[in-house]
Amino acid sequence: MDENRRVCRGGSSRIPTGEDRATEDQIVIRRGAFHRCKEKKLMHTLRQYQVPLQRYMALMDLQERNERLFYKLLIDNVEELLPVVYTPTVGEACQKYGSIFSRPQGLYISLKEKGKVLEVLRNWPERKIQVIVVTDGERILGLGDLGCQCLPVTIDVGTNNKKLLNDEFYIGLKRRRAAGQEYSELLEEFMSAVKQNYGEKVLIQFEDFANHNAFVLLEKYSKSHIVFNDDIQGTASVVLAGLVASLKLVGGTLGDHKFLFLGAGEAGTGIAKLIALEMSKQTKIPIEECRKKIWLVDSKGLIVSSRRESLQQFKKPWAHEHEPIKELIDAVKIIKPTVLIGSSGVGQTFTQEVVEAMTSFNEKPIILALSNPTSQSECTAEQAYTWSKGRAIFASGSPFGPVEYKGKTHISGQANNAYIFPGFGLGLVISGAIRVHEDMLLAASEALASQVTQENYDKGLIYPPFTNIRKISAHIAAKVAAKVYELGLASHLPRPSNLVEFAESCMYSPRYRSYR
Ligand code: NAP
Ligand code: MN
Repeated sequence: MDENRRVCRGGSSRIPTGEDRATEDQIVIRRGAFHRCKEKKLMHTLRQYQVPLQRYMALMDLQERNERLFYKLLIDNVEELLPVVYTPTVGEACQKYGSIFSRPQGLYISLKEKGKVLEVLRNWPERKIQVIVVTDGERILGLGDLGCQCLPVTIDVGTNNKKLLNDEFYIGLKRRRAAGQEYSELLEEFMSAVKQNYGEKVLIQFEDFANHNAFVLLEKYSKSHIVFNDDIQGTASVVLAGLVASLKLVGGTLGDHKFLFLGAGEAGTGIAKLIALEMSKQTKIPIEECRKKIWLVDSKGLIVSSRRESLQQFKKPWAHEHEPIKELIDAVKIIKPTVLIGSSGVGQTFTQEVVEAMTSFNEKPIILALSNPTSQSECTAEQAYTWSKGRAIFASGSPFGPVEYKGKTHISGQANNAYIFPGFGLGLVISGAIRVHEDMLLAASEALASQVTQENYDKGLIYPPFTNIRKISAHIAAKVAAKVYELGLASHLPRPSNLVEFAESCMYSPRYRSYR
């Protein structure tokens, strides 16, 4: 401790006295100690900020100054820092992005670059790119159109957010969003430029596109590119994992359950599709039959067959025979689901009445409040446990702290696609996948569910703690890669014998080299 403090304070300008003139061994130890000390000090400084956005800005500043140390800090304190760099704080950062913006960290491609996208990519200093996360900023978390943002690549086609259009600090194009041909031409140009510039095997992760584009882009480019939509597919995979894990607590198989969603967009229908697929694989019952156990409510009420004509394509498979129902509470009482999933982006929709109804016909109702950030959560962990008299199996998209209910501490898991996308992408990259297949999402789910320990279950958790995210990701990557090989879609040959070890060896590690 003393030693740490001394190294830290002294820095390199301190002249060693005879007493502390160091041997080589000591220098190595001190360098380790130096960074541990520096990390400790940084964490101490961060904790001084009361406002979460200030912590976010301090971390972004660190990333700019010393990227390696930033990642080291993040890895070593992931549980504490994830809510800062990710949901919920990142939501506020996105809303205020223009005013906290200091330097561009990613690549911006706007409508003005039309016809020159390849040139723009060629000007990016990094040549070897394996994964690209791209957004057009139209549906950020449950916060809607936030326009030009910071992700590795932002496609700026304008924004329909009036507040941003009138914001003097807004960094994006001040025009209404391009749609139709103008939009699809820019995306097409980007997608082909990526392949031309970085080769066939670059993975493109679509992030936070609005659903009217997201499903179309995913479908269109899955035939020619390695594409993955995190909001549709990553969410599906993480939620399926949580459901599979929760069966350990409630019993039965997936096929014994009945599901009701509030919200039938990217997240809702993406999850529903993957549940039906897994259920069908397990039970050998045709997928059309399995779908009948899954119900979705959108802004107009329960999705039923009489609405089919006017439904968007991605909702049609869920239009079952039923009387129309307008309100969620009525749908809950009539359908009597065992699992209730919130994916509408609207906060406080799982009311006391809804949770109590779920508890009246389920011994242990499974309730997932997926909407982000915290302000949009369908209910809080405290509400879920209190209203269900401590019986709910609850997880949420944004984190909640432990809840005391009648002398028992309930810890809720975080049902967030952050569990999936790092490992999923790594699995595709290390196997040299040439296409993405739904079975790879199932593999990721299975891998994640298998990481929940008995100790986690005993606390009511259906997800493993984030602290182990690197180990979890290595397992997910290995399972995904194994599936890629099994499907004959791998180009990285021969197959490494130990995929977990291989995945670990391919991960970035912010190591500090010693002087030795
Ligand atoms: P989306 O595609 O825009 O879908 C939203 C859906 O909610 C639509 O079906 C919409 O109905 C419905 N809806 C909106 N207001 C409603 C209301 N008052 N009552 C009933 N339904 C309503 O959005 P998304 O991508 O699915 O995301 C939705 C939410 O899920 C966001 O908050 C997001 O943060 C969260 N999410 C969480 C995770 C996670 O990992 N935890 C992952 C992805 C998304 P219409 O179709 O009728 O408009
Ligand atoms: Mn997202």
